[in-house]
Amino acid sequence: MQLNHTHDVNTRSWLESAHAPGTDFPIQNLPFGVFRRKGSGEAFRGGVAIGDQVIDLAAIARDNAVSGPAAQAANACAGDALNDFLAMGPAAWRALRHALFDLLKAGASGPGVSALRASLVPQAEVEHRLPTRIGDYTDFYTSIHHARNVGRVMRPDDPLTSNFQWIPIAYHGRASSVVISGTAFRRPMGQAMPPGASAPVYGACKRLDYELEMGFYVGPGNAMGEPIPMAEAEQHIFGMCLLNDWSARDHQFWEMAPLGPFLGKNFCTTVSPWIVSMEALAPYRVPFAHPADEPQPLAYLDSAANTERGGVDVQLEVQLESREHRTRGVAPDRLSATSFRHQYWTIAQMLTQHTVGGCNLQPGDLLGTGTISGPTASEAGAIVELSVGGTRAVPLPGIGGERRFLEDGDTVILRGWCEKPGAARIGFGESRGEVLPAVG
Ligand code: CA
Repeated sequence: MQLNHTHDVNTRSWLESAHAPGTDFPIQNLPFGVFRRKGSGEAFRGGVAIGDQVIDLAAIARDNAVSGPAAQAANACAGDALNDFLAMGPAAWRALRHALFDLLKAGASGPGVSALRASLVPQAEVEHRLPTRIGDYTDFYTSIHHARNVGRVMRPDDPLTSNFQWIPIAYHGRASSVVISGTAFRRPMGQAMPPGASAPVYGACKRLDYELEMGFYVGPGNAMGEPIPMAEAEQHIFGMCLLNDWSARDHQFWEMAPLGPFLGKNFCTTVSPWIVSMEALAPYRVPFAHPADEPQPLAYLDSAANTERGGVDVQLEVQLESREHRTRGVAPDRLSATSFRHQYWTIAQMLTQHTVGGCNLQPGDLLGTGTISGPTASEAGAIVELSVGGTRAVPLPGIGGERRFLEDGDTVILRGWCEKPGAARIGFGESRGEVLPAVG
């Protein structure tokens, strides 16, 4: 993905809020989602975030605000899910992004600009649904720091499994319980083997956790039996979001031998509403390499482009807002911060690995990156790591409290953004979810 005029840090929009300090959504971002006016009963339709507004893509299509391939792309965004748009591929994605960029530029004029201006809906007045109909959801496990941190808790004698440095590990997750940011969920019931006990117990999860992850959405799919090689992998990835893979550690650690996560992971997964396109992320691509003294990727997981710019430098942070924070009017506490650039495998390698055996991906499928933990202890992306399996308290300075795992009423907020000198700061918005008491 080459840099082009839509990445120019000096381009301004006629929409003032696109330049508000710290905004996630300047003209250089233009992320896609699905929305309607809150509580309106309107049909959900595709939208693009700009400043504090949403561009209504159904209105853009209806009012012929854009033409040619961009109009075809806008038409594909007029319904209540973006699958058809994602299936169209990079040329269509680029056509619509560039057409909207041109209409939003300071000094732009004409009927298309008037139509776009008339289509705007304030973000404060909208609600979202999932941006695609997710046919399948797969969650990877690609942070070596997370793998080592959790491995030390689960298997002190063998913290990093021997396959980790050779294959992007994943499990097939559950698409039905992927929810949009803002959706509360019940603490899960399940079976766990308490330390030292001789028989398992059934009850509400006692070790509820979050996982700081990113997700990425599949664009054009592949036919069954026809793998996607590394050289083509990114043509099949539309963009990225924030993802929280809520985890019941007590249930998970008991049930996952020998087949992998099941109920410990399938009760809720939260995604942020906006998909930031790979084109918008182009200024933030970074080189990818395994350390020289570690196994190098096998040829089918390697490419020159991946080595040169397979990584993405996304700044990430986790905040916790308890019931007490809310009642006392205290700002959420930050639990950790890191960058996606530390991941051991790239999104291209994950996508290629997923298909190499012949598995077919479909437009709108969601792939999770796995927990993102950086190299230092304060960069851990799950509370089981921060609390070292619940043996150390994680302080919540805002309320003078602490946590080892999540409590009822806790809201976990994920944020992500990219920034560097010479490029526009772009953000992902947030992923937010509240833990409700178990029904047991
Ligand atoms: Ca996960």
